[in-house]
Order: sequence, then structure tokens, then C-alpha cells
Amino acid sequence: MNRLEQLANTAKDLGCKVRCDEPMSRHTTFKIGGPADLFITVYSMEAIQKLYKAANELEVPLLPIGNGSNILVSDNGIRGGVGALAGEFSQIQFTGDDCTIRCGAGATLAGLCVFAREHSLTGLEFAWGIPGAAGGAAFMNAGAYECAMESVLTSCTHITKTGEIGSLSGPKLGMGYRHTA
Ligand SMILES: Cc1cc2nc3c(=O)[nH]c(=O)nc-3n(C[C@H](O)[C@H](O)[C@H](O)COP(=O)(O)OP(=O)(O)OC[C@H]3O[C@@H](n4cnc5c(N)ncnc54)[C@H](O)[C@@H]3O)c2cc1C
Repeated sequence: MNRLEQLANTAKDLGCKVRCDEPMSRHTTFKIGGPADLFITVYSMEAIQKLYKAANELEVPLLPIGNGSNILVSDNGIRGGVGALAGEFSQIQFTGDDCTIRCGAGATLAGLCVFAREHSLTGLEFAWGIPGAAGGAAFMNAGAYECAMESVLTSCTHITKTGEIGSLSGPKLGMGYRHTA
């Protein structure tokens, strides 16, 4: 069994959906891009942690993808895995107080804007119309109308390539023009 097959089996055992030779044209706004060796949809934090650990040990690259609105994939496709987020990563809720939202990286930015509006929170108006997921928007520090994610993002939980969970807040997020730490 080769390393890709091993990673695919691990992902399936973790409850992920695994597609082989998945055309990336199905997952990019511009509808271009050849096949990803593995396209893995991950549904839980526990699964993604174990998946990244396994990918690291097997030395298979794993590219996170959001809504595919800021990536161009060549006709040659992507060697290794692409990781998409669903399930618990799509959740949007309050953290405990009434003015701080906790949002999964797989939720759409549009969904996040609607949640904020429905709860009479201001700050995300600039993001309406940006066709990304919350994770992609955080990663890119997406912005418009002289505002950007850095004006609303207070902290972020992340996972490293070796499967460690960490958290960054405030200046440690390192947010600059279309860039974060
Ligand atoms: C019509 C159109 C209008 C746009 N308007 C704007 C605009 O006004 N302002 C603006 O800033 N951008 C704009 N964009 C660009 C794009 O929508 C943003 O950059 C958006 O934030 C990308 O989010 P995404 O989820 O689609 O990311 P993707 O395109 O899927 O990924 C972008 C990058 O983020 C990484 N990434 C994605 N998700 C994660 C994650 N969960 N964890 C770690 N890394 C991740 C990917 O590996 C990749 O490097 C526009 C794009 C289009 C097509």
C-alpha cells in the first residue's frame, strides 16, 4: 500500500469523506484545476488533528482549502491531499457573551455576516459579498471598504502541520495586508 492509500484509509477511519483524483475545477470559483490525488472532507477537530499527524508522518502534503475563491489550480492538479472543512467546522455560535462570535473555519463568510446581522452586531458589513469561508478569510485577512478581518478577529484556534492545536490572539495573529501569521 502506498502512502496516499495509507492516508486515505486513515482518513476514512476518522470518519472523513475521501475522494480520489477529484477535479479541483469542482472546488474553485473559476472552475479550473486538474485532479487532487486525495480530496478529504473533515468533520471534526479530533479528526483533523489525527489526519494532520498522519499526513506529517507519511510525508504527504495536505493543503487546506476554504471556498476556493482565491486559488488557481493548474491542469496538472495537486499532488497529495486537499483538506476541506464541514460538520463542526461549519458552526457559528456565541462564545458565552452576547457580542463575541465563535465561528468554525468552514462556515461561509456570508453565513457569518447573516448571523451577526440577525443578532444586531456590527463590524462585518465590509465582508458581505466576499465569497470565502471564514477560515480562508482569516488566512487571507480578507477585506474591503478600508476594513478587513483584522478589525473583527480577536483570536484564532489553529492546527499545525504536525497536528498540534494552538491559539493566537491580538498582535500575535500577525495580520497585515492579505496576510496572517
Ligand atoms: C468575485 C470575487 C470577489 C472577491 N472579493 C474580495 C474582496 O473584496 N476582498 C478580499 O480580500 N478578497 C476578495 N476575493 C478573494 C477571496 O474571496 C478571499 O481571499 C477569501 O478570503 C478567500 O477565502 P476562501 O475560503 O475562498 O479561501 P481559498 O481560496 O479556499 O484559500 C485561500 C488561501 O487560504 C488558505 N486557507 C483556506 N482555508 C484555510 C483554513 N481553514 N486554514 C488555513 N488556511 C486556509 C488556502 O490554503 C489558500 O492558501 C474575491 C474573490 C472573488 C472570486
